Amino acid sequence: MRLIERTPTSLSLTWDVSPRPRIQSRTIRYEVMYRKKDGNLDVTTFVVLLLEKNSVQIGDLSPGTAYLFRVQALGSDGSPGGSSMEEQFETSSEGHLPQSNTAVIFGAAVGGAAMLFIVVVVLFLRKRKRNSHTRQGPEDNYFSSSEQLKPLKTYVDPHTYEDPNIAVLKFATEIHPSHITKQKVIGAGEFGEVYRGILKVPGRKEVAVAIKTLKPGYTEKQRQDFLSEASIMGQFSHQNIIRLEGVVTKFKHAMIVTEYMENGALDRYLKDHDGEFSSFQLVGMLRGIAAGMKYLSDMSYVHRDLAARNILVNNSLECKVSDFGLSRVLEDDPEGTYTTSGGKIPIRWTAPEAIAYRKFTSASDVWSFGIVMWEVMAFGERPYWDMSNHEVMKAINEAFRLPAPMDCPRLLLDKLLRSPESLKTIADFDPRVSIRLPSTSGSDGSPFRSVSEWLESIKMSQYSENFTCAGIVTMEQVLQMKNEDIKNIGVRLPGHLKRIAYSILGLKDQTSTLSVFAV
Ligand code: AMP
Repeated sequence: MRLIERTPTSLSLTWDVSPRPRIQSRTIRYEVMYRKKDGNLDVTTFVVLLLEKNSVQIGDLSPGTAYLFRVQALGSDGSPGGSSMEEQFETSSEGHLPQSNTAVIFGAAVGGAAMLFIVVVVLFLRKRKRNSHTRQGPEDNYFSSSEQLKPLKTYVDPHTYEDPNIAVLKFATEIHPSHITKQKVIGAGEFGEVYRGILKVPGRKEVAVAIKTLKPGYTEKQRQDFLSEASIMGQFSHQNIIRLEGVVTKFKHAMIVTEYMENGALDRYLKDHDGEFSSFQLVGMLRGIAAGMKYLSDMSYVHRDLAARNILVNNSLECKVSDFGLSRVLEDDPEGTYTTSGGKIPIRWTAPEAIAYRKFTSASDVWSFGIVMWEVMAFGERPYWDMSNHEVMKAINEAFRLPAPMDCPRLLLDKLLRSPESLKTIADFDPRVSIRLPSTSGSDGSPFRSVSEWLESIKMSQYSENFTCAGIVTMEQVLQMKNEDIKNIGVRLPGHLKRIAYSILGLKDQTSTLSVFAV
């Protein structure tokens, strides 16, 4: 990368394009990523730009500040091509005149801005026109003719009500507790147990429901936070959003009653059925989640905690978005899902700008949706495996992205389900990046001394005896094993089989995952 010009608030850069024909013929875009050099990594903001030419002028920078840049070529299908080293450039200090004058670049920038403006205006006018013509369509029925482009129905934050109890009354139906029968505890909610049960309202058919309860000893604030989920859920009506049946607020034990989802939380469900669904079924689940999320963003609701654990599945495999709790405070979070530093954020599911400066938007929900796509295609595998939250943030800031899970179709786009053949092309899969360093060698990088030490490192100690009985007692023997051999010693669960097989592949390769990340 080369510096063409710098001012106190901008840098103009260009970069040479590798003449390698294989990449070049397919390259159409460049991804430029930059950040301030001296930022605390945990709160550093990364900016990523997608460009069609090999130069850029970046504005809005701080004077006299060093920035780190990296550029990556992308093929027409989004596949990565060559990448630059990380390069450092500094803006000039305030009061300095531009240090070189490239009228061409400025001309191009102004021209580019004008073009962008024209494109935005054209798109805006076309969208206006389309909305006014197709208002009856199912996608567009949130728009009124006088308020095109503005959702007619917008989510109302219950906290804007002076008395949150009034919000509950407005958005949720009050149910008499005698109409509810609790049958069995099915989960632990943030505020108390969740039950499966029956709702039988006189004059209506009885229905299976989930009943969220508030544990005794709550404060008025906790009661209001608990019920605020109902105030939010009660405003939504969509096939892929959990439906609120009603609330109990007028009796001692407050309850939230929702439709019952037979298969529970999606992450658990997929882990329990590892390898049992086709790509077609998995993409069907994703499509449902996407439809629910689109509805929420049309309502101007930002979820902030979209993750497979917050999606519920019914017995027709329909997926519905749930968990609209406003309070994300978890006292008991053994998995470290939510970090505790400065608020509670589910790090692995959250967009970098939301982590860095709490900028939660529908766009950051889209990032989380990408992580959910990965979770679904990987049958509930934990995103970024056993990396710590800090390692995840660092890796993301260094441009690492989750690689395609095994058997993931290359083309995961809308309209896929209408052309199922497209799901048959499988994306490149690199087993080395599916298991982290401790799986391929000891945590200090040294080779494993025994089979049991290795099994322990990949959390598969339960198979130690199977290996011994089968006469596999040295790491050399392990390295000779094929998939069939692993099955023969009694490893049948697809998830366990995968974990062991990948780890052996990683051992053979001797390439640590971390160096693969760096590549
Ligand atoms: P939540 O407080 O919403 O995270 O719920 C805790 C757990 O209860 C979930 O992970 C599910 O296992 C279960 N659960 C919650 N709502 C439902 C529902 N509508 N149908 C079935 N299970 C549910």
